[in-house]
Amino acid sequence: MMRSMKYFGRAVWLLAAALALSAQTRQFKAGAFAADVTPRQWPVRIIGGFTHPLATTAHDPLHARALVLDDGSTTLGFVLVDSCYLPRALWDRARIRIVQQTGIAPSHLIMSATHSHSAPPSKPEGASEVELVYQKLLEDGIVQAVVEAHKRRVPAQIGWGVRQEPEHLNNRRWYLKEGTMPANPFGETTDKVKMNPGAGNPNLVKPAGPIDPGFTVVAVKTLDGKPIALYGNYSLHYVGGVSGNELSADYFGEFANQVKSKLGAGEDFVGILSNGTSGDVNNINFKNPRGRRAPYEQIKYVAGSMADHALAIYKDTKYQSWVPLAAAERELPLRMRKPTPEQMQRAKQLLAETDPTKIQLLPKSYAERGLRLAAGPDWADVKLIAFRIGDLGVASIPFETFTETGLEIKAKSPFKTTFTVELANGHYGYLPTPEQHELGGYETWLGTNYVEKQGSRKITDTLLEMLKGLAR
Ligand SMILES: [Zn+2]
Repeated sequence: MMRSMKYFGRAVWLLAAALALSAQTRQFKAGAFAADVTPRQWPVRIIGGFTHPLATTAHDPLHARALVLDDGSTTLGFVLVDSCYLPRALWDRARIRIVQQTGIAPSHLIMSATHSHSAPPSKPEGASEVELVYQKLLEDGIVQAVVEAHKRRVPAQIGWGVRQEPEHLNNRRWYLKEGTMPANPFGETTDKVKMNPGAGNPNLVKPAGPIDPGFTVVAVKTLDGKPIALYGNYSLHYVGGVSGNELSADYFGEFANQVKSKLGAGEDFVGILSNGTSGDVNNINFKNPRGRRAPYEQIKYVAGSMADHALAIYKDTKYQSWVPLAAAERELPLRMRKPTPEQMQRAKQLLAETDPTKIQLLPKSYAERGLRLAAGPDWADVKLIAFRIGDLGVASIPFETFTETGLEIKAKSPFKTTFTVELANGHYGYLPTPEQHELGGYETWLGTNYVEKQGSRKITDTLLEMLKGLAR
């Protein structure tokens, strides 16, 4: 009896020691850093619109903003860049350097662009010497942001929450009254919907798709309650309304500033606002157009409103001292679309036209895009990465993704809360659903859309499988 008591006592002691040890190694940590990636040399082109005006200055700085989470055995990193999009090659170069300098696994990094339409080009094709210097600075800044965030990890608590905030969102694809649909760049009048039909257009019938009002916030603070970082996620293309020849981080940068000041956070605090799935959703109220705004006025208004909502979540949410982290990665090959023989023939005819009075800019641009697609690769190697942060799921997609796809992933995800990050780990144009392909319109045109029409289905199914694997 005495003997067994003694063994029992020792077993209890061992168990207590093991628990104490695991509590010690299970220290949750977080770190954040924002690296300035504003060009130092000028001019650079402004990417986002159909034309690319030259910028000679920045209205507000561009950043690469990183958040690193560490549960004691697994480390995850988010990095968000003020850019329209970044090609996979640039992300991959930065990813390798980050892995070498931090030991974070390559599959444990969700790297995405905000989709600011007032940022310089990130692809080397057609870039000037000055733009190539900027692209190197951008890569260095991405690396610096994650490496610094990793270095700055401190014991932390984490919380998250979601609110439904439809106020700033409008589906931008509309059905128009019979007979009012203009011809597309391929000379067809088969499009059933029009992108950005014009605010107050008298021919509007109804929007062709939904919005996703889910606004998610993940917040980390020190054990004594000092804010470290806040990562927001909202499905809004961008706001715009910037002035002419200058760069801007759009409302994504302004959100970061306002969250910091509204929280009364210290200098090291990093606010981040990533893009959800907003390929077909923007800030233009087509049915009830707003009045004219001064440059940056609408950006400040939307950013301020979203910063207020972020603060409400920050204050309401329950913080946890430890949550498990995990990541999953898949490479999904998608077939590139190619022009039909008829489209090839038409493209060559259009490009052979030399009479400047007969050249139509939009058809010519799509003719060039079609020929580039014909000569380009047959497959796109699409990298998909998903995270688990406790009972929060994150799915990332390298496209300008339609809101329907985000809504479906959120609805079918095994996690209690899920959010999506678009323009992550690469860029392959727009990703309409097969149903939206049937309706036609800008985002479905060959040269705006590049991959097979079932692409969104394959991506959704794969990401749901990955999330299910992570939830087990
Ligand atoms: Zn866009």
